[in-house]
Amino acid sequence: MASGHRNGVHKVIVKVDRPANLRTSSSFKSKPPVRRSSSALAGAAAHDDSVPGRVRVAVRLRPRNAEESVADADFADCVELQPELKRLKLRKNNWDSDTYQFDEVLTEFASQKRVYEVVAKPVVESVLDGYNGTVMAYGQTGTGKTYTLGQLGDEDTSARGIMVRAMEDILADVSLETDSVSVSYLQLYMEMIQDLLNPSNDNIAIVEDPKTGDVSLPGATIVDIHDQQGFLALLRLGEAHRVAANTKLNTESSRSHAILMVQVRKSVLGREAAFPNENDDPSHSVSSFKPPVIRKGKLVLVDLAGSERIHKSGSEGHMLEEAKAINLSLSALGKCINALAENSSHVPVRDSKLTRLLRDSFGGTARTSLIVTIGPSPRHRGETASTILFGQRAMKVENMLKIKEEFDYKSLSRRLEIQVDKLIAENEKQHKYFEDEIERITSEAHYRIMEAERNFTDELEKERMKCQMDYMESIKMLEKKWMLNQQKNGKNGFTDGSCSEERVVAPASEEVSEIKKLLQNEIQLRKAAEEEVNNLKKQLAECTSSEAGGTEDTAKLRRLLEDETRQKKKLEEEIFILQNQLSQLTFEADQLSHSPLKDVGNGHRSLISNLHEQVGLQKILSLLESEDANVRIHAVKVVANLAAEEGNQEGIVEAGGLTSLLMLLRSWEDETVRRVAAGAIANLAMNEANQELIMGQGGIGLLAMTAADADDPQTLRMVAGAIANLCGNEKLQTRLRSEGGIKALLQMVRSRHPDVLAQVARGIANFAKCESRASTHGTKNGRSFLIEDGALPWIVQNANSEASLIRRHTELALCHLAQHEVNAKDMISGGALWELVRISRDCSREDIRTLACRTLSSSPTFQAELRRLRIEL
Ligand code: ADP
Ligand code: MG
Repeated sequence: MASGHRNGVHKVIVKVDRPANLRTSSSFKSKPPVRRSSSALAGAAAHDDSVPGRVRVAVRLRPRNAEESVADADFADCVELQPELKRLKLRKNNWDSDTYQFDEVLTEFASQKRVYEVVAKPVVESVLDGYNGTVMAYGQTGTGKTYTLGQLGDEDTSARGIMVRAMEDILADVSLETDSVSVSYLQLYMEMIQDLLNPSNDNIAIVEDPKTGDVSLPGATIVDIHDQQGFLALLRLGEAHRVAANTKLNTESSRSHAILMVQVRKSVLGREAAFPNENDDPSHSVSSFKPPVIRKGKLVLVDLAGSERIHKSGSEGHMLEEAKAINLSLSALGKCINALAENSSHVPVRDSKLTRLLRDSFGGTARTSLIVTIGPSPRHRGETASTILFGQRAMKVENMLKIKEEFDYKSLSRRLEIQVDKLIAENEKQHKYFEDEIERITSEAHYRIMEAERNFTDELEKERMKCQMDYMESIKMLEKKWMLNQQKNGKNGFTDGSCSEERVVAPASEEVSEIKKLLQNEIQLRKAAEEEVNNLKKQLAECTSSEAGGTEDTAKLRRLLEDETRQKKKLEEEIFILQNQLSQLTFEADQLSHSPLKDVGNGHRSLISNLHEQVGLQKILSLLESEDANVRIHAVKVVANLAAEEGNQEGIVEAGGLTSLLMLLRSWEDETVRRVAAGAIANLAMNEANQELIMGQGGIGLLAMTAADADDPQTLRMVAGAIANLCGNEKLQTRLRSEGGIKALLQMVRSRHPDVLAQVARGIANFAKCESRASTHGTKNGRSFLIEDGALPWIVQNANSEASLIRRHTELALCHLAQHEVNAKDMISGGALWELVRISRDCSREDIRTLACRTLSSSPTFQAELRRLRIEL
């Protein structure tokens, strides 16, 4: 079984930074030897990392055996041991002896365990550290070489020899996963190397590496050892083969040398070699990769042939040639040791196969222990003496211990391959994981987007439905309100001018006839008064003509006349009031007896016209200035009704009615007068010519004053209506504004009455329209006066008013304002853009909607803002 280790392992000399770590667990210690300059036997240069190590020699005395106990009973032993002094005394005779110093002196009582520990254990430990080691037994046949080295201890474990104990220690130290232990077992006989593990292999060649000088036996069987049992079996097998071979050769085992070679390969991976951590970036750690280091220690255990052969070969009846051959190796060993001991320049290593095999053990790089065995019998004193001398000489042999380490590139590449494969697999796994993850995230995101879109669409639809419902609800409500308003206030427009709350609610026809009677009386009284006046005039004329009258009478008469004139005026006023009341009552009576919807306005107006004809416009207008408040109220109502008719307006104005009406606005004391006057002015203000007149007479100031003062929403409605009409005149824009017209309008929004707000909105819309036109014609520059005067917030706020009139006017106002770029910025900042967008989408009037759309798309400022807000029209 050939070990695969040898192939492909690149041997290198490894520099070891630390000094060779030699274990010194026993008393068999190396003393620091003198460093030799070179080693002739090994032929290898001593390197810096070599450590001097002298060959250690122990002597072991075998106890007397049974035969000796009998035969030598009367004689003393030829040796005397002084183990504590590590000395041995060899008797020359009864009175003289020579003393020898050894590294260790083991008595006949020394246990096998102790022998192992002092002789072999330091060597075994060195082998485990990567050194070569040799333990060799030398001695006469029967002195216990085999007992010391090869005893298996089957029956008595305490008798286990060095081979068994060495393997025990080796196996305990190595890790069979990373390390290996293998053995070869050989016999050297007559210069032939036989394989004890494969007897047919009986002439194994020694191969020396010319570069390193390393000796190997490529032909020898190498068996990997995994456990002690396997090793013991191998030893038994080897022993059996040895016996068989010797029988075949007709010899005995004491004539041959037995050599057990134990190869220990230990990986020092993990202790010194750096391997990448899994967390490390592989690209980084690869550059710092060190191959694992392998320590290869070789332990050679040699059980030599009996040393007596050297001396006694001839006498034992062997053929000379055979004897020569048998002893060649031993005598060559002796010669080499002598040469080494004497530091001779020539060491005859090549003289025998034994010396070639042991070239590293003596004078080489191995740690070597020699145990020389002796017997106690004085009969073998000569043999004992020569054995002792051999040991003494061997003690002088100096080795240079060198660690055997090599980088295991194969293992490194194997490990790297594994690492790379692992990384590739990991990478692939990660890649797959990332891809899956990305797919998962993508599909999740997809799903979420879809869900969000769905939710959004649902919500939008819901919101849309809700808005529609709300819208329809409010439309319905407004319609209802409108209907109600129509029914309630149907006759209450500006063009109508009548004041419902002034109406007598339940006039009876009796009352009418009563008043008619009164009127008749009054007419009769007037006629009587007129007659009297005529009489008096006649009398006066008579008096004057007769010249008989005195100045006293004349003065009296003048006073009387004046009284009468006053009386007459008062009566005339009374008649006017009565006539007015009569026409009012007649109208109401008509209304009660006929369908209320049947041409009511016209009916009333015709009555008023009647009155007008009867009394005369001039007369009515003069009544506006009556001292009597009651007369003034009646007069202003009549004028207001007349002013509602376009046909009368010119007459009223020509007769100075407008001036009178404006004067009435100053009458603080009476709300009714102001309200009705304002209504009349509002009606007159529908006419463009009148508008200029109103302005010319400071109408705006008066109206603004009234607006500031009044609380009654109806008054405010009239005032706002009047201003709203004036707002529609392009020519008056600047003046209207400068006289506070817009401010007055905005002031009135404090009354939350929708009728007032509607008029305000109308005014603003009118103003905006005229201003827009003026801007287009170039007669107006700069921002809108409406914006200047702060109307925008109210416009924006009311642009979506529930009241359709207010909404329509404010929507229109916004559209007009938006047509001029100069207003755009203020409109954006004031929030008008949103309203315009809404108008362009939702306005129920198509023309306004289109106007808003057109305006928005033609303004660069709005366009930019819409883009910024990502709003599409
Ligand atoms: P060698 O191998 O040197 O020829 P052996 O080991 O065969 O000698 O020993 C010869 C005999 O002596 C054997 O029976 C052996 O058991 C016995 N013997 C040798 N040394 C001892 C010892 N230290 N204690 C007891 N018996 C021993
Ligand atoms: Mg033996």
